[in-house]
Amino acid sequence: MKHVPQRTCICCRQKFPKSQLIRIVRCDGKFFIDKSQKSDGRGAYFCGSNECKIKLLKSRGLDRTFHQKVDDEVYKLLCEEITK
Ligand SMILES: [Zn+2]
Repeated sequence: MKHVPQRTCICCRQKFPKSQLIRIVRCDGKFFIDKSQKSDGRGAYFCGSNECKIKLLKSRGLDRTFHQKVDDEVYKLLCEEITK
């Protein structure tokens, strides 16, 4: 059986197969959605469920994960990515 790497959602703390998650990466102080899942840098995984989306926006979960203020723009980008 093939081993499926699992990652934890930063919101609900549940584990999911890596490929199902949205990866947010910080590189050179900039945040972006890592579609290839191959970029270097500090990454956070997000399951993209509606509940988590609301929670993430409300609690500004990314700020905590990356220990810095994350621009609203990044949250917006992330939401757009999820609703696709
Ligand atoms: Zn989640």
